[in-house]
Amino acid sequence: MKNHIDDIFKKLKPQIYDDFRSIVNINSFSSNMDGIEKVSSKLVEIGEKLDIPLKRVYSSKKTRPHLMYGQDKEKDYFAFIGHFDTVHSLLSDFQTMEEAGDLLKGPGTNDMKSGLIVSLYSFYILKKLYPNRDLPFKVFFNSDEELGSIDSQEIIENQFKGALGAFIFEPGRPNGEIVTQRKGIAGLNIEIIGKPAHSGVEPWEGTNSILAACEIIQKLEALNDYEKGIIVGCNEINGGVARNVVPAYTKIVVDVRFATTTQQKQLFKDIKNILNSKTSVGAEIKYDLYVNRPPLEKTKESERLANLYMKTAKELGINCEEIATGGGSDGNFLSAIGIPVVDGVGAVGNNSHTKKEFIYKESLIYRIKIFVLFMSKLLNKKFKE
Ligand SMILES: [Zn+2]
Repeated sequence: MKNHIDDIFKKLKPQIYDDFRSIVNINSFSSNMDGIEKVSSKLVEIGEKLDIPLKRVYSSKKTRPHLMYGQDKEKDYFAFIGHFDTVHSLLSDFQTMEEAGDLLKGPGTNDMKSGLIVSLYSFYILKKLYPNRDLPFKVFFNSDEELGSIDSQEIIENQFKGALGAFIFEPGRPNGEIVTQRKGIAGLNIEIIGKPAHSGVEPWEGTNSILAACEIIQKLEALNDYEKGIIVGCNEINGGVARNVVPAYTKIVVDVRFATTTQQKQLFKDIKNILNSKTSVGAEIKYDLYVNRPPLEKTKESERLANLYMKTAKELGINCEEIATGGGSDGNFLSAIGIPVVDGVGAVGNNSHTKKEFIYKESLIYRIKIFVLFMSKLLNKKFKE
């Protein structure tokens, strides 16, 4: 099989890089709807060429297009997940792909247009290797991952309940690590309402909301336990109107992260306890605590898939470890509905979300090789059943 794969690659290599460049060079900032449409069309075109008919799909809100293949598949399939939006706006001067030594630099090269190419070409090569089979794959690329998948979350949760496993083609970490755990993310907005007063004439008549905020922040920050994976970051604060006015209003924005659902329950309890008890200055406290993404947790089955992936990489002479990370992805939603998830199986690079974003050119090829060989092991087992 290995020689056969090498032959296929030799022929495909230029086409793989051309297709990659063509999607990187279309700006698809999440809010640039014109670019989102254009890159959708380009991906549909690439899909057609590879005989993977991607269809535009919409959520119930019908606000933006996403792409799917295999919509009719209900169970016993593997899910290939990615996103084609980026964080790079049209105003940025970082718009096109450039080659620099062994790197390919450009907006969305790492996060995660390279991953889209890895998934589509892996699928295509697997079709060549199993010409008489209907491969059990379902593909979904969304256009709003960088916005927290606010529109596409319902599609992910409704369409992928029957997956045997989900592979997220987000980039591997800088040393090629795959991601087997991601923290859950919650947001917390706190409003503290005090009472204004002239701070020179009768400050004792006021209620200082900034002072109350300081007390609350101290208590919230004490919940941090980095070793266990708990992060409570009071990262934004706004309050007060002038030097000589006792501040009647202060707002705090808090980033909350946790490794497991069990941790989340306890943490939410602790946060609510703090916010439901009085501060020494007696200001009124209002808050909104909401889950943005549930945690991506490791399960027995996800561990089995991850181990097989890493073992396959080693067989190809490529070292590959696993890692837990604080950032979220769509893998979090799939994990929360009970699907085993292996994340970070895209290309390998670094500096996502900055103008220094890149992938290692060769990783686009060898990550396809790993995935193809890995998936063929899963398919061989499945077809024997
Ligand atoms: Zn991403």
